[in-house]
Amino acid sequence: MKPIVIKFGGSNLKDKSDLSKILNVVRMYDKPLVVVVSAANGVTNKLIQAVSDIRNLEIERFLAEIYSVYKSFIDEEDLELKERVYQIRETLLGAKLIGRVPDFVYDQIVSHGERCSSLFLKNYLRNCGFECEEALPENFGLITDGRFKNASVDLHASEENLRKYFKSNTNYIVPGFYGVHEDHITILGRGGSDYSATSIAYCLDAERVDLYKDVSGFMTCDPKCVKGVKPVKRLNYDEAAELSYFGAKILHHATVDPIRKKKIPLYIYNINTFKSIDSPDTIISFNDSIAETIIKSISFTDDIAVIQFKGTNIGRVPGLLGQIASTFGTEGINIKSVVTSQTSINVLISKQDVERCKKITSRLQISEVEEIHYRTDISLIAAVGDGLLKKHGIAARIFSAVSRREINVEMISAGASEVTIYFIVSLQDREKALQAIHEEFFSDKL
Ligand code: ASP
Ligand code: MG
Repeated sequence: MKPIVIKFGGSNLKDKSDLSKILNVVRMYDKPLVVVVSAANGVTNKLIQAVSDIRNLEIERFLAEIYSVYKSFIDEEDLELKERVYQIRETLLGAKLIGRVPDFVYDQIVSHGERCSSLFLKNYLRNCGFECEEALPENFGLITDGRFKNASVDLHASEENLRKYFKSNTNYIVPGFYGVHEDHITILGRGGSDYSATSIAYCLDAERVDLYKDVSGFMTCDPKCVKGVKPVKRLNYDEAAELSYFGAKILHHATVDPIRKKKIPLYIYNINTFKSIDSPDTIISFNDSIAETIIKSISFTDDIAVIQFKGTNIGRVPGLLGQIASTFGTEGINIKSVVTSQTSINVLISKQDVERCKKITSRLQISEVEEIHYRTDISLIAAVGDGLLKKHGIAARIFSAVSRREINVEMISAGASEVTIYFIVSLQDREKALQAIHEEFFSDKL
């Protein structure tokens, strides 16, 4: 029987009342479940905080604090869990002693909240009469590419491992957020449990993936920035991938990749308003449903910077972009996108990488490059919807809505993906621009 993979996030482990909600959900299914779980709310942040100031960490007090987070859910001792929490004690002591946290130690410690959650949840669910076993990625072999802090799952290498390990007709509780590479734990980047869930679903040929959150799926825009947002009921894989790549915080950016390969549908639920598994908030699947509005959602990210390489003929010199990209690649800098013109090559990167890039570009010797500029006070806005390139006039509507508000659009890219138009505005114009496009496509007057 094909299993169903479900995932509970940290926001589903905030306080006591969350446990009965989780129990209610798992009891709704009549198929074997693989339940992926994140660290309890705030625990990953606490772990990151601890390693970032390892020299001053009061280890005993810190571990007691982590244990008390879990204990507060059930108000009683769970000695097995206590032992699990304290498993990182020696590692913390060692790191404190040498006064630094090597990458492999960092990933091991920061992923520990998930290992605490999986044991905690297994014990809780069993006590409530729900049969299940805990399964750890280091034991069943969820293999990654080995990149610390931000690894990708090697689906090919993992698939056979998982098939051999997981028995059908057993419910499993699995910690999300990490996999292994040559005996080292590697985390999948912040919010990575979504991606764990879809990777496991891929390996086990799951029937579906159900993600439980404390928000109601995708929205037409971020409600914190724009008034009058609406829920988005359906997205296809490309749309969901583009939205999360360009800033929608609801899904980890790589979540869709594994399930797209096997056309496994993904459902998102708000656990606080959950009624039944037949009524998800957003469904992500293989369909080419073109919405009447064409645009289904607008996302943005402020974690963007542009490096502009300028030169009179730069757009025409062969191999230049390759040279820039491979230099950044060897230094481990991720290029988010590239927009070129006759006189400039614009490389989009994460703001976090700016200082490192400045060092790299100061060493770069390319005769055609006359100037290099960095822009960091910017925001990238992405309008996403299948069919936007095919339907006449969508781009015109986006840009006239923005220009009516006298916002200057600094750079545009359309066509790189079939479902996205993105552009850059200065940071201070971001909210006005979002509101303008949102009104253009989603205002009730239409
Ligand atoms: N606990 C991890 C984080 O906070 C992973 C996750 O929540 O998915 O990033
Ligand atoms: Mg989380």
